[in-house]
Amino acid sequence: MISMECSIIHGAREWCLWFFIPMYIPEDKISQVLAASDIVDVVSEAVILKRSGQNFFGLCPFHSEKTSSFSVNPAKQIFYCFGCHAGGNALAFIMKYNGISFPEAVRMLARKYNIPLELESADPAVRQRANTRESLFRLNKKVMDYYAGRLAQSADAGEARKYLHKRGTSPEVIEQFHLGHAQDSWDGVVRLLKKEGVGRKTAVESGLILPRKQGNGYYDRFRNRIIFPIFDINMQVAGFGGRIMDEGQPKYLNSPETMVYHKSKILYGLHAARQHCRTSGMVYIVEGYFDFLSLYQKGIQNCVATLGTALTSDHVRILKGYAKKMVLVFDSDTAGLNAAKRSIQIFLNQGVDTRILVLPRGSDPDSFIMEQSQDPVGAWEENARNAKTMMEFLFDLSRQNHGFSVEGRLRILEEMKEYLAAIGDRALRSLYIKQLAESLQIDERAVLEKVRDKVQTDSARSTGRQKNSADEHVVQRLRSDPREEQILSMMICHPDMIQMVEDSKVLDFFYSDRLKKIARIIMEGRMDQQGRLHDLLSRVEDPQDQELIAALSMKGNWDEVENIQPAAQALIHRIIRVRQKNDNPLVSKIISAQKNGQEDVLDLLRQKQQEIEHLHHN
Ligand SMILES: [Zn+2]
Repeated sequence: MISMECSIIHGAREWCLWFFIPMYIPEDKISQVLAASDIVDVVSEAVILKRSGQNFFGLCPFHSEKTSSFSVNPAKQIFYCFGCHAGGNALAFIMKYNGISFPEAVRMLARKYNIPLELESADPAVRQRANTRESLFRLNKKVMDYYAGRLAQSADAGEARKYLHKRGTSPEVIEQFHLGHAQDSWDGVVRLLKKEGVGRKTAVESGLILPRKQGNGYYDRFRNRIIFPIFDINMQVAGFGGRIMDEGQPKYLNSPETMVYHKSKILYGLHAARQHCRTSGMVYIVEGYFDFLSLYQKGIQNCVATLGTALTSDHVRILKGYAKKMVLVFDSDTAGLNAAKRSIQIFLNQGVDTRILVLPRGSDPDSFIMEQSQDPVGAWEENARNAKTMMEFLFDLSRQNHGFSVEGRLRILEEMKEYLAAIGDRALRSLYIKQLAESLQIDERAVLEKVRDKVQTDSARSTGRQKNSADEHVVQRLRSDPREEQILSMMICHPDMIQMVEDSKVLDFFYSDRLKKIARIIMEGRMDQQGRLHDLLSRVEDPQDQELIAALSMKGNWDEVENIQPAAQALIHRIIRVRQKNDNPLVSKIISAQKNGQEDVLDLLRQKQQEIEHLHHN
């Protein structure tokens, strides 16, 4: 007997923008790119994968989780998340992970596997966007080389060279991270871009030059600063940061948001640190350029910097692809502690193992590591062992602020309940509640009550919506039959069964129009014996349908069914038999009774429904 995981619920897309994009890249090109690529290779650039049987598993980069429900099947070249139901082929992964369009994803994959690609865009707007992004990357690279060349050679960059030397930044690090120098003038980059023939529109969009407030013309954004190019994960120069060398203001200046630079999604140094994060399983999160560079230089290379922007949930989501454990490193000054407090909420929501490392008074990561002449790595790690859990950190901070008198302890409780309520994991929450009660010497039940009140107020707002969607789910369930999904799973896993399905005309009995539609697409395509899904997924335009197909091929265990023919036949016959017997308007009756609030009618109808379901299962 085959047992299957049946219910496939499709949640709304939360954070990734999907646009309907006409497929203007020739299909054979897409097939060529996909055939050359390997999904395990592609995904493992973003997710730590572990092999388990036929599949690989890892933490999903698309939703918050602590156990690995994200799977990759190399034989079928698809990924699927059992938690949030994201799924698809290598291209779908690249699109979703990077938040880019389909043609951009094809380009990226083609570049990775060295396949030349000439795009003929059917949609000028899409083509325009892709072109602009590429021009910006090209321009940034040029400007990076210009700044770096200045730092290395220009006579007027002497002060910058001296400054870096004084801070102890090594020539190797300067070279590896392409540090540069912006000259003390208004038009260094303006002239460079003119000389290079860069269009005015692109030049302005890069944020590197700004229109003069009076009169015509433009001026440089970065002047007389040390320049730090900011790379994205694909090693492309997305933006720049600049630090002033004297006491002027602002001390740090970054590129503005552009089409290629999104500060909420970019972490300084990740392109260089990611492999180290992966090997060590942890990442240190620091604040500044020099914090990062000094740690990196001294051998702490599993490290990234947030660059003055508050840590975002996107940052954390990205980092989860590289490390399970995260250590937030902060200065012990008030600003640092407040920043730590703000970041904690994000980590609580994302359910990541997070520690807070507050450095000894008067140190920041840069000064701390640079002062260690003997064994910097050892000294750092020794310090890191004192990192506190988030709750310990918050408790200590609260205790410092409020003292430990009766009133003080009550205030601590008031403060801590906010954080405790934000913890999604109930078991973890109750552990912390116990801990807090002990530390405060307050009855555990009193703490529990406080937190429960808070949790209830927080969820009150969304309750209405949840109820509605629960109703919808009931209706959906009544209208669907898990066996229809099983049929599709089977067609995907055993293409040799497709003909049988077609001949039986079982599709005519499907409740689900969507499954029917997808089944037809599968039939049209006829996959090869290896069950290759590449081409199937490329032929499906709707990303939600792609996810469904990925789900159908990962769920169910058709691969393990030995005698496929009779199992398939039985399944098909059961669907047809039950439909013929119960082809009545029961479902619509239930829905209308629900709408009109006829509880007694509803009970009767539900009873009937159960009888039918019982029949289904026999
Ligand atoms: Zn997921």
